[in-house]
Amino acid sequence: MSATPVKEAGRPATAQRAAEAPAKGPSRGSASANPPGHDRPYLASEKDLAPLGLHWVDEAERPARARELLDKMRHYRRTFQMYMDVCTHCGACAQQCHSYLGTQDPKNMPVARADLARRIYQRYFTWTGRHLPRLVGAEDLTEETIEAWYKYFYQCNECRRCAVFCPFGIDTAEITIAMREILAYLGLVPRFLTSVGSNVLRTGNNMGIPRPALLDTVQFLEEEMKEETGKDIPIPVDQEGAEVLYNPSSSDFFSNPDTLTGAAKMFYAAGISWTLSSEIIETANFGLFFSEPLLRAHSQRLIRSARRLRVQRIVAGECGHGWRTWRMFSETIHGQLEFPITHCAEEACELLRQRRIRVDPEANPQRVTYHDPCNLARAGDIIEQPREVLRQITLDFREMIPNREKSFCCGGGSGLLMDEMMEVRMQLGKAKADSVRATGAEILCAPCAICKAQLPLVMEHHHVPVQVKGLLDLLGRAIIL
Ligand code: SF4
Ligand code: SF4
Repeated sequence: MSATPVKEAGRPATAQRAAEAPAKGPSRGSASANPPGHDRPYLASEKDLAPLGLHWVDEAERPARARELLDKMRHYRRTFQMYMDVCTHCGACAQQCHSYLGTQDPKNMPVARADLARRIYQRYFTWTGRHLPRLVGAEDLTEETIEAWYKYFYQCNECRRCAVFCPFGIDTAEITIAMREILAYLGLVPRFLTSVGSNVLRTGNNMGIPRPALLDTVQFLEEEMKEETGKDIPIPVDQEGAEVLYNPSSSDFFSNPDTLTGAAKMFYAAGISWTLSSEIIETANFGLFFSEPLLRAHSQRLIRSARRLRVQRIVAGECGHGWRTWRMFSETIHGQLEFPITHCAEEACELLRQRRIRVDPEANPQRVTYHDPCNLARAGDIIEQPREVLRQITLDFREMIPNREKSFCCGGGSGLLMDEMMEVRMQLGKAKADSVRATGAEILCAPCAICKAQLPLVMEHHHVPVQVKGLLDLLGRAIIL
């Protein structure tokens, strides 16, 4: 499929903006590049932080402020405090983190990453740490501590694989989320994340796509589908009273259009009325990665939009952490909702079970394997549904090892999908590349916008000859219209 109008207009500045890098650690003012290893994502400026209600805390005040924030966090997130207290340092998680396996940096072991926070927590908030700090390895909070937090909590993909192997279920992703929130209140956020966050607040999507560009792209894709199928398959926008509000990833409008047209074909074939909302064409919720207020604001926008359009349900598109956010936090934030929120893989699976859509697996004759996006498999209960769909729409489906809740992360999740971290991202993707290579697959199905952006680069870097596609992309090929 050729480029969409949005793509032709050039990728919006969001993901591409070059910025000045800190010369050393998380401080500002230098125009030099990041140090070798690209381990310090470019920092947001005061101006970048402002739309998100954040500001830079002066370097001299940072350790004291960080201590206050850590104290607040342990009371606000009780799981954080529990994870600080219960680790026995058994080491069962150490070899299970792709970040450690890829970088070989011992501080990227989950237990060592968490210890960057735990040693400070013990120093100030436990009796032993206050009186016998050496006994438990407790440390004072200094500027170097904050520098290490910034480096290592931005080398965690929040993938939760470590939690699967920890005998106590310690979820280092939750620790990372809490620590990034603290860093944000110190004004230490990668510029990439503040750019995305500002776009979301302004336009309801990560890329900052305005309504006219959205409508142009939709028209273009409808014309492409007409050319391909001979049918008038609509992509409705802002249709009040539709059965479904489909909430895609904004990247579907410029880099993954086959995912969006796959959804359009599915709804058309099943006779389901549906609509996009121009208010929110973004299922991703980057607030999960550094800002709870942003997470809440984006969630509120989706629910407001669904109520305004009077839909019967929301169907989430292909985005792992977006699904995690809708599924895990929607009712926590809004109370019980009057409509369900489902995932597009569940929708496709159910339509096939009910025989409301028919498919021809000959349309996908290549060997296909499936990548479990972390947030679908380990935080979203989307494990068997995509497999059930793939077995019906392909001729040669093979599982990779490990799979399901033990699958390795692509290395791009949790907001690390920035050019400044490319070298680290390729290291983080190595375990996944090895898993895919062993299958001999020609197509890697990965129903997550972030995985679809990260995996082609990882596969090329590690010399794995495979094409990366979404689930709806493959369904769109196979569906009989
Ligand atoms: S597996 Fe759990 S208890 Fe053991 S070191 Fe890792 S986080 Fe701590
Ligand atoms: S959440 Fe994932 S990336 Fe982070 S420490 Fe655990 S295994 Fe590693």
